Amino acid sequence: MKYQRVPKTGWDVSKLSFGCMRFKDHDTAVAAVRKAIELGVNYFDVAPAYGGGNAEPFLADGIKGLRDKAIITAKSSPGNGGDGLCDCNPQAGFGIRTADEARRQIERSMKILGVDHLDMYQFWACHSDAVFAEGVKPGGFMDGVLKARDEGLFDYIGITTHSESDAIIRYLKESPYEFDMVTLPFHVLAATRTKAIEYCAERGIGVVAMNPLGGGRLGRPAVVFQKLARQLGLKSMTEGALRFAAGFDGVTTALNGITFAEQAVEGAAAVDRGPLSADAAARLKAGMEEIHKFVNPAHFCTDCGYCGECPEGLVIPTVLGLYTDLLVPSSAESAYAAIQKRRAAGEAGLDPAACTACKMCEGKCPNHIPVSQLMAAAVERWPKSE
Ligand code: SF4
Ligand code: SF4
Repeated sequence: MKYQRVPKTGWDVSKLSFGCMRFKDHDTAVAAVRKAIELGVNYFDVAPAYGGGNAEPFLADGIKGLRDKAIITAKSSPGNGGDGLCDCNPQAGFGIRTADEARRQIERSMKILGVDHLDMYQFWACHSDAVFAEGVKPGGFMDGVLKARDEGLFDYIGITTHSESDAIIRYLKESPYEFDMVTLPFHVLAATRTKAIEYCAERGIGVVAMNPLGGGRLGRPAVVFQKLARQLGLKSMTEGALRFAAGFDGVTTALNGITFAEQAVEGAAAVDRGPLSADAAARLKAGMEEIHKFVNPAHFCTDCGYCGECPEGLVIPTVLGLYTDLLVPSSAESAYAAIQKRRAAGEAGLDPAACTACKMCEGKCPNHIPVSQLMAAAVERWPKSE
């Protein structure tokens, strides 16, 4: 495993890090965590809401007896996971609005994780000025976090955000205290936020690239990505995407959402091959730009699931993913056939025509995807029912 030093913390962080948002069940989660540690992965990011509330207890079992090999960072938010605020919801880790609520939330996570000391605690889901202002207000969320840090419950503070560069830099500049790490979305499908990465690197702040696989989209066997990977001499697009994100100048680590031990093996092997050559990175980016001719990069669903349940039963990330494939000529045919096959198998929730444009999902989407608009557009390309 390759490691990168974070000047602010002094940690040597593995170039592949472990996001606990995609756990499936207890046994596969524990096996994945243990395999990752065996491979040298040492950075774990977890939140109360991940895995339907199971991520913290599953991680706790995964690190049993191995605590000294893992940097554990937990988090919660004054926000609702999107741009807005909500009432205090400790199960999800959202709406943590006061210093006392923050303290209770931190202790709750530590208890579930079975640790008497965390390594870092993060201001999670700071996606808007409103959430940032709420978090740093006197007596608010961050006051509780700082007090807990000063009392030794953990050593460092981080911030996670889906905002773009200018807003991220503004948060860091306006913050009354210095954050040690910033977690932001960064992947080859949308390699924006380079200005924020540069800003952090200049100040010794660690940068965690979340969604290195575009929220799983680059790890899917979409025809359009497979072709491009082959052209670049890569084993898979997963390899290309992880090496692109982890190897980008200023990025400390690629935070990959891992479900199975095999993904840890694949990810570790990828980052161990080192950064892509400048030529391969440029060709990969150019290939992505070609895809962008057909798909607006701002419309890539990252499969985070924050939109929750659709009242019409639509499986929103799946429909949006298939729609993306339908838009790109080289993958359209296989996507069309895949939809027909899934429909024939009786799979529910895949018909975009069911969308009533209630927009309940849109208010919760951290990527501001105009879901109802895309559902309406998808209807035009969807295979017609027989
Ligand atoms: S806008 Fe459409 S997809 Fe979103 S929750 Fe409403 S019905 Fe479901
Ligand atoms: S639509 Fe938005 S909230 Fe829902 S899974 Fe996709 S990116 Fe996440």
